[in-house]
Amino acid sequence: MTEAAAQRFDVLIAGGGIVGSACALACAQAGLSVALVERDLLGSGATAAGMGHIVVMDDSEAQFALTRRSQQLWQALSSALPAAAEYEAPGTLWVAADEEELAEAARKHSWLAERGVPSRLLSSRELGALEPNLRPELAGGLLVIEDAVVYPPVVALNLARQAQALGATLVVGRSVTHLAGGEAALDDGTRLRATRLVNALGADAPQCTPGIPVKKRKGHLAITDRYPGFVRHQLVELGYLKSAHSVSADSVAFNVQPRQTGQILIGSSRQYGNGKPAVDQSMLTAMLARATLYLPAASSLSVLRVWTGFRAATPDKLPLIGPFPADPTLWLATGHEGLGITTALATAELLAAEFTGSLPAIPPEPYLPARFAPALSVEKILPENTIPENMNQEKL
Ligand SMILES: Cc1cc2nc3c(=O)[nH]c(=O)nc-3n(C[C@H](O)[C@H](O)[C@H](O)COP(=O)(O)OP(=O)(O)OC[C@H]3O[C@@H](n4cnc5c(N)ncnc54)[C@H](O)[C@@H]3O)c2cc1C
Repeated sequence: MTEAAAQRFDVLIAGGGIVGSACALACAQAGLSVALVERDLLGSGATAAGMGHIVVMDDSEAQFALTRRSQQLWQALSSALPAAAEYEAPGTLWVAADEEELAEAARKHSWLAERGVPSRLLSSRELGALEPNLRPELAGGLLVIEDAVVYPPVVALNLARQAQALGATLVVGRSVTHLAGGEAALDDGTRLRATRLVNALGADAPQCTPGIPVKKRKGHLAITDRYPGFVRHQLVELGYLKSAHSVSADSVAFNVQPRQTGQILIGSSRQYGNGKPAVDQSMLTAMLARATLYLPAASSLSVLRVWTGFRAATPDKLPLIGPFPADPTLWLATGHEGLGITTALATAELLAAEFTGSLPAIPPEPYLPARFAPALSVEKILPENTIPENMNQEKL
């Protein structure tokens, strides 16, 4: 038995990606005793594969509330982050290819303005002046001024280390094999007990909580050699809204980010039903062709590395944050799809508020796993011998 095994924690978090690490810190800051268990490295998983774009989204009021609140928390955190976290706020430039997309830019501009988010509509000429490497025929764009970028694995590690400095126990290199009934079992036989368990296993969350509506959505990214100034903002096509948010079809979209090193991250792709991490040549080719369509000179850039990662997708495009209906000891913090870097801090804040009984900064209801009840019934989720005795076993 390890030293940690002898202890009982207020909160045990499975998964040390950016969501689990943020939850560990928020709980430790709230004065709770915390254990964080990570199978590989802290900040690996989707967190190491992601683009690090901290972006306010307007798909729904609930998505807006979570992304905006989290963006504000990122702003507050930014001065305490190490330089290696590469936090900066170049803004997102949503690029309109035609008049229809320009109308969408105008709608987005008004919608954000009504909610206090600063943005600026750009004519074709203004767009070209801000980003000279974009093809000149584009219709215009929208600059969302406070959007930021960050290097996610460094932040996840930093948040976990801050939690450790406040007394949290970090268990790294061990897999959680069971997470229910107030107990986590690890792959070396260690058993850890906690008043509250948190499943923050990202796209692997169903492995410990079978039956939850989380599916893997594969993505590719490419990174180039150093070309300082080639692009200056996070550039995203407004057509992204049509392609990336389809909940079924494979898609690529123009989504490019300048890094502090002068390198350029080129994304992005979305695929269901492909759980293999290998690079898919046809998706990669389509993704790079899309980038060249918007940035013709990108065809001469040297790509150094390409990788894939898995987003944790839910059917309604909102994460699962809150108590799991079929186990009174279990909370979920997963299903963040392509916005988990952005929304990690607000996710952690919501959970910590719930654990301490304090007032949440935003209404938690839209993200509660209970919205998928009765699909999440006790019998479907937990093997019979793990159902806590004191539990109402009706379908929830
Ligand atoms: C290509 C791509 C681009 C993206 N770009 C962006 C972006 O620009 N902005 C944005 O906001 N989001 C982006 N995302 C999404 C974002 O990366 C994820 O939503 C986020 O990283 C999810 O964090 P997480 O902590 O929930 O999951 P993960 O980072 O996957 O962490 C889960 C952790 O659990 C560990 N684990 C798994 N099973 C076990 C087990 N049994 N026991 C112990 N540990 C286990 C894993 O090793 C992993 O470290 C992108 C994703 C991809 C794939």
